[in-house]
Amino acid sequence: MTYDYTKRTNYTADVAKMKAAHKILKEQSYKPSLPEKGYNNRTLRIDLTTLTITEEPVDDKMKEIFIGGRGFGLWRLWNSVKPTSTWRSPENTIVISPGPVAGNTQYPGSGKSLVVTLSPLTDIPIDSNVGGYYGPLLKFSGFDAIEITGKAKTDVVVVVDGQKGTITIEEAPLEEVNSHVAAEQFIHEYANDEADMRNVSTVTVGRGGDNCRIGCLNFSWFDVRRKAARLKQAGRGGIGTVFRDKKVKALVVHGPPIKGDMNQPVNHDKVAKAGMRLHREIYENDDKQCHMRRQGTAHLVEIMDAYDLLPVHNFQYGKHPDTPKIASWVWDHRFTQGIPDGCWYGCSMACSKGADGHIVMTGPYKGHVVTVDGPEYETAAGVGANCGIFDPNWVLECNFYCDTYGIDTISFGTSCSFVMECYQRGILNAERTGGFELTWGNGAAQMELMHQMARGEGFGKIAGQGVMRMKRIFAAKGWGDAQFLDDIGMENKGLEYSQYVSKESLAQQGGYALTNKGPQHDEAWLIFMDMVNKQIPTFEAKAEALHYFPLWRTWFGLNGLCKLPWNDVEPPDNQRVNDPMEAAKVPEHIQNYVDIFTGITGRQASREDLITMSQKVYNFQRVFNIRMGKGLRKYDKAPYRSKGPVTVEEYESRAERYDKQIQEVLKVDPRGKSTADKVALLRQYREDQYEKLTDAVYQRRGWTKDGVPTLETLKKLGIDFPEIVEVVKPLLG
Ligand code: SF4
Repeated sequence: MTYDYTKRTNYTADVAKMKAAHKILKEQSYKPSLPEKGYNNRTLRIDLTTLTITEEPVDDKMKEIFIGGRGFGLWRLWNSVKPTSTWRSPENTIVISPGPVAGNTQYPGSGKSLVVTLSPLTDIPIDSNVGGYYGPLLKFSGFDAIEITGKAKTDVVVVVDGQKGTITIEEAPLEEVNSHVAAEQFIHEYANDEADMRNVSTVTVGRGGDNCRIGCLNFSWFDVRRKAARLKQAGRGGIGTVFRDKKVKALVVHGPPIKGDMNQPVNHDKVAKAGMRLHREIYENDDKQCHMRRQGTAHLVEIMDAYDLLPVHNFQYGKHPDTPKIASWVWDHRFTQGIPDGCWYGCSMACSKGADGHIVMTGPYKGHVVTVDGPEYETAAGVGANCGIFDPNWVLECNFYCDTYGIDTISFGTSCSFVMECYQRGILNAERTGGFELTWGNGAAQMELMHQMARGEGFGKIAGQGVMRMKRIFAAKGWGDAQFLDDIGMENKGLEYSQYVSKESLAQQGGYALTNKGPQHDEAWLIFMDMVNKQIPTFEAKAEALHYFPLWRTWFGLNGLCKLPWNDVEPPDNQRVNDPMEAAKVPEHIQNYVDIFTGITGRQASREDLITMSQKVYNFQRVFNIRMGKGLRKYDKAPYRSKGPVTVEEYESRAERYDKQIQEVLKVDPRGKSTADKVALLRQYREDQYEKLTDAVYQRRGWTKDGVPTLETLKKLGIDFPEIVEVVKPLLG
């Protein structure tokens, strides 16, 4: 479908007046530069309390051990906070770093930024991976990372102008806070003209970040065909809440026009050749494999339903008869086709689809005509199926408001489905929710919950605290049994689960909860290898997968890369690789990554070396968690809903499967037993399996039984710095 973009609601009529109202609080000149071999060798630190702007060096140790992206973020955060710091402490720092490979335009998926801070949900470091132009434009303006620390007195905008060579902290009182408006207004204000708009990118949040713990960041890029600001989210862990707590309205970067060699790589040809190989594969195979260019990740909806993995009614079930109403063919029709929707230059996978012409149905923008960025699979599954909502209009509405309010769709979906189940079971009722009828499928109630959340009012204010805190609140009020709430509340470490049912995959249960930041599928997605293809049957094989894949995916975050082009398209002959574990790694693509890393940085590395790079950062992050009072085995426990059926109805919905397991694996005859007895039997078995998996994974990772990296592990990795050893030593006996 084609679309007339002039129909979109315009928010930029008064931008000249808005810009004139800015008050410069601090201005500093600097010398813009381009990176050499992927690095600028300096970071930018903005202290909002003292209004100081400083450049700080990136030394060889930082590059050698922490690489960039998530590694840089963790290291800078470690140096900024104390063990007693909380997410609200002024010294908590938001670090945005794109990584040495980021900004490359030859290889698809090379425009990511990593954001790190102390999370309001988990109280430990969170890292979140995001597209959009901010990170690469920052890099090409001269900085490997930006750190925002301290707290401003009034709402401010931090502007890095890489064309003029200035950095300013400004009051900007008139622009909106909500992202779909703010991004457009700031881009229009700071671009020289329309052609220059693609060189301006913003980071914004929205009112949700002011009033709930699940705030996300929106990174923009200017879509020249739609003439509109598009948004990608650093969604997980409440980073947007920290951003607004610091009173940041926006970060703006105005970078130089983009060219193909701005990383100044050591071997441009090597990088370009790897890119050409992958572009060809995408063009030849995407239509036969994942349809990312037409449907984005929304193509997964019906696949997950077919394998009983789509979360329905707060992860109680894995499929629903109404799934076709929100399946890929619906989104294929709703997304505007024929537009290359890449969230960075050169990404031919172009999966950042947009639904144009959505007429907003509720809230402050009712009646406006907007472009919705998405939905991606996680959004359709989370705010849709998991809440029993199978109307694509409500899914789009919820997606739009999550983004513009700066609320993470995954945490919102899992929180909303949790309160809906509480409503189903009488833990909540209309009196307790202030009049909400939070029944399954009630899209209007879901939206009212969201508007309340963004305003910080009523029951929405409670729901905006996230699942872990809601469980405590409901139990403390005597509304529900604490154990039952723990069983059905899908969070670990305080972070809400992303949208896959993991009950039948022990490896994925570990892939979610045996993580540093909490249950997010960007560390490990092992369900098909484990449950469907049965390629990792033993504890040792699962532990090996839970060693390798989280480290491999960590490496993307060190370098500013998108995971999707790694295995959402595969060379057609990949399945001829004999060893299934090796096939899952997609060896030809791993070689591409070796080529682009070595080609840009000049640092020699084998494919094994890439894993070792991640291992250093991953273990460092584990020690960081311990330093903040967490990071031990008890924090890796998973809610039972992620491991098996909590209730009699859940068991009976898949009775054949569970009875078979009791008969064949537990060697107990299920006949004549009550369902409640069978639920208990299965639970005992599955809890025990999870503990055994935890032992095996810790051993493979070189950790103690309590999950502490041993001195040998730290030494082997070369990260046995005194301040790290000091954290773990008391726990090693
Ligand atoms: S694959 Fe999609 S999300 Fe990843 S970089 Fe490309 S357009 Fe962005």
